[in-house]
Amino acid sequence: MFNIDLIKKLSYAYGPAGNEEAIREVILNEVKDHVDEVSVDTMGNLIAVKKGSGKKVMIAAHMDEIGIIITGIDDKGFLRFSNIGGVSPFVSLGQKVRFSNGTIGTLHMEHMEDMKHLKLEKMYIDIGAKDKEEALTKVNLGDVACFHSDLVDLGHSVMTKALDDRIGCYIAIETIKRLSASPNELYFVFTVQEELGLRGAKTAAFAIEPDLAIALDITSCGDMPKCKHLAVNLHDGPAIKIKDNSILCHPVMKNLLINTAKENNIPYQLEVLTFGGTDVGAIHLSRAGVISGALSIACRYAHTPNEVVSKDDVNNAVELLTKVLSKEI
Ligand SMILES: [Zn+2]
Repeated sequence: MFNIDLIKKLSYAYGPAGNEEAIREVILNEVKDHVDEVSVDTMGNLIAVKKGSGKKVMIAAHMDEIGIIITGIDDKGFLRFSNIGGVSPFVSLGQKVRFSNGTIGTLHMEHMEDMKHLKLEKMYIDIGAKDKEEALTKVNLGDVACFHSDLVDLGHSVMTKALDDRIGCYIAIETIKRLSASPNELYFVFTVQEELGLRGAKTAAFAIEPDLAIALDITSCGDMPKCKHLAVNLHDGPAIKIKDNSILCHPVMKNLLINTAKENNIPYQLEVLTFGGTDVGAIHLSRAGVISGALSIACRYAHTPNEVVSKDDVNNAVELLTKVLSKEI
């Protein structure tokens, strides 16, 4: 039931925020034969519509991923860089990144003494160039890269890069394929630039004017050794968002998700996040306000090259979303 080939395709696709062309192409090919209309707006959001006569529902999953951007190249061919979205120097140390042309480099730091207060500006990327001239044949200032890692099937769970938020894209795609008909008018929006501040969702919501909105994204887990308290666990079901730092979810949407899960015996947990935000943070404040909520997938090691999610949680999220959208809302 869990489509490992699809998540591999989505995860591996290149798509740091602002550079979503390749991942958009992958998603477009998956959904185009299963919807009534597809379009790409000015910002680059991919909008797939399933027509219906009822309420307008916007389902948002962001296609972009975190990354790095080149700020300088020295005489020896080493690259200096800055972040695109939340990139920690500690988790990126020793990892690989990949540029859109396939160039791969590894991230390291100047001095071990920097370790305690490590900052990205004390780090560099080695792409194997002998000097600046050779480096410039492969990368240029302003070029962007994403993490580079292999997907590992862990049995109950899956580990790879960019599950934030390709797993949300996966849930949207699988739901689109599974939904036969809906009484509602459904706008599946694969948004751009979420990692930089919910930018694509903001303009898409303004244009679509939805009655209701649901975001699909990852959330943090509280079940790893000595991590901070958070009542969200891997394998406990999709998490119905109560709040994060960008939204207090509307009771209508919260109850719709909870009641549908109960009616269909779908396991779920509640997400009360004291930090972070996602696309509905921007969507619910669009125009005169939108009734909004979110389905989150518990994810360990978010914003690292090795994010982990539970296959059952993902399957149950597809099931729950399909049931919710099949209802007359
Ligand atoms: Zn995300």
